[in-house]
Amino acid sequence: MTPSTASDTYFTRLLARKGQPLLIAGPCSAETEAQTLATAQGVAALGNIDLFRAGVWKPRTRPGSFEGMGAAALPWLQRVKAEFGLPCCIEVATPRHVEEALKFGIDVLWIGARTTVNPFAVQELADALTGTSVSVMVKNPVNPDVALWAGALERLARAGITDLAAIHRGFSTFAPSKYRNAPTWMLPIELKTRFPHIPLICDPSHIGGRRDLLLPIAQKALDLDYDGLMIETHPDPDHALSDSEQQVTPQRLGEILGELKYRRRSSDNADYNSKAEELRQKMDVADREIIEALARRMALVEELAEYKKENNVKILQLDRWQEIFASRPDWAGRSGVNEKFVADLYKLIHIESIRKQTEVMNKA
Ligand code: PEP
Ligand code: MN
Repeated sequence: MTPSTASDTYFTRLLARKGQPLLIAGPCSAETEAQTLATAQGVAALGNIDLFRAGVWKPRTRPGSFEGMGAAALPWLQRVKAEFGLPCCIEVATPRHVEEALKFGIDVLWIGARTTVNPFAVQELADALTGTSVSVMVKNPVNPDVALWAGALERLARAGITDLAAIHRGFSTFAPSKYRNAPTWMLPIELKTRFPHIPLICDPSHIGGRRDLLLPIAQKALDLDYDGLMIETHPDPDHALSDSEQQVTPQRLGEILGELKYRRRSSDNADYNSKAEELRQKMDVADREIIEALARRMALVEELAEYKKENNVKILQLDRWQEIFASRPDWAGRSGVNEKFVADLYKLIHIESIRKQTEVMNKA
């Protein structure tokens, strides 16, 4: 059983019924019963939230910070469900967490970023979940490794868990960035390509780390055809015991959801469809030209390599490549093409050029 074959799951049914992105909201951490219920009341009043989230066991980077209320918070979530009709989800990191969560009837579990990195921990969770019918969401690992993320989903699928979803919460990087966790959008897109049936949910709170970034990140996720959003919500964000800078009040969440543009996957407007088709055909022609130009360039590389070989000249000519790396982005800029994109493209062309020349040099 691979995760990609399950197309009728808790999440896909919810999505089909709603016809809109799934919305998950609630505090980073359940701090007190009053704070949990106040958040739930505010979130329920929005009328379109599908799942209530709350951290009960919090994986904190350093000891001494608030590590969650643990099992004591689970009855508060039972009240959230009973009083506001909101199914609840929490993070689990150990088999004991799974056992406690199931005892209290938690509807959906999620595996956090710091757990997804560890295949031993994921396997222990998968074993603990065997035989249950609970739904599980898997956050991306903290490091930008799509194989680990896919591997965690596969371990759960092998344990018989079919109700799966993936949560994109960004990746930690050493380089300074405006994001708390770099989104690196191509990685979740790669996961979606591998597992098209697994709903992909964006967590703009942990990607952005800042309230003002929630809207643009959420908009980008919707435009990339994500299936849902998970946004941290707190009645008094400034005094939250964890992640205070990125949490918003339920009221602000309502405004953000109202400001988002919900675009369609396709259109039945005939004008749009014929224009889009025409532009795509022109792009097909442009792509053929690009490939023909690459073929011409590689044929020249090959010819040059033959000459280098005859004249006993080395492959790598640093001056020449420095000149190429300087001039091509410059040409691109003049033609209105992104310079960084063309610089990256020429790094790939250089690698291929060296590969091709090595092949010629080593030919008997
Ligand atoms: C969280 O959702 O509160 C959390 C700890 O997330 P992550 O695992 O993405 O850091
Ligand atoms: Mn958090």
